[in-house]
Amino acid sequence: MRTPIIAGNWKLHKNRAEAAELIRQLASMVQDAEATVIIAPVFTTLESARIALEGSNIALAAQNCSCESSGAFTGEVSASHLIDVGCSHVILGHSERRQLFGETDDLINRKISAAQQSGLHTIFCIGETLEEREQDQTLDVLRTQVTEGLAGLSTEQMQDVSIAYEPVWAIGTGKTASTEQAQDVHSFVRGMIFSLFGQQTSERVRILYGGSVKPENVDSLMAQQDIDGALVGGASLKAEDFARIANFRAVN
Ligand code: PEP
Repeated sequence: MRTPIIAGNWKLHKNRAEAAELIRQLASMVQDAEATVIIAPVFTTLESARIALEGSNIALAAQNCSCESSGAFTGEVSASHLIDVGCSHVILGHSERRQLFGETDDLINRKISAAQQSGLHTIFCIGETLEEREQDQTLDVLRTQVTEGLAGLSTEQMQDVSIAYEPVWAIGTGKTASTEQAQDVHSFVRGMIFSLFGQQTSERVRILYGGSVKPENVDSLMAQQDIDGALVGGASLKAEDFARIANFRAVN
């Protein structure tokens, strides 16, 4: 049995007071969720979010971290700083980091290694653009992202990595991959983990779906055999919507 993960990526939204208020609303709504519930607020609100989360079953994630541990790296935040502020998880390789900030598979790989060394659980994002899908390159793109992003990781380190399949064309667009499209890709990715890390790791790894997940589509997505959770952007900013997603009912 793989415990599902429902993670909210707050992106560049919510100041400290707004974050604390959203956490206050969410905490009671997700207390019985049968999933690991995670929120990823803005860096500067992590400390106050950790305090607001006390007594809840919601874990704290960052949306990024440096591949460096310390030194002359102006503007960076290291994995150990994230542990220090109370994070247990970090989102790495998000398509916005890849597309808007030029993050490469190699850089993401080094970030994942740094996160593993500090004891953070990584949610590693992969996904193809619309152009790549239309040119039938989806599986090639994902193969490269997975192989290069996870290069050099041991089977043991993989225990602390989850993967989020987020088709770029479905992020923030209101378009969701069909349950069949998502299941096909998730099954392919699990097969890749099998060939890279063996059967046990492939059966254990959580593969989340992300891309316009909403209360209306979460149940059918979560009913798919290889979909083990959701990475949620827009809908994670409203307590009722995110709580409904966290309290999904898997139905066909
Ligand atoms: C995301 O940013 O990871 C995401 C999936 O966003 P949205 O749910 O808004 O599509």
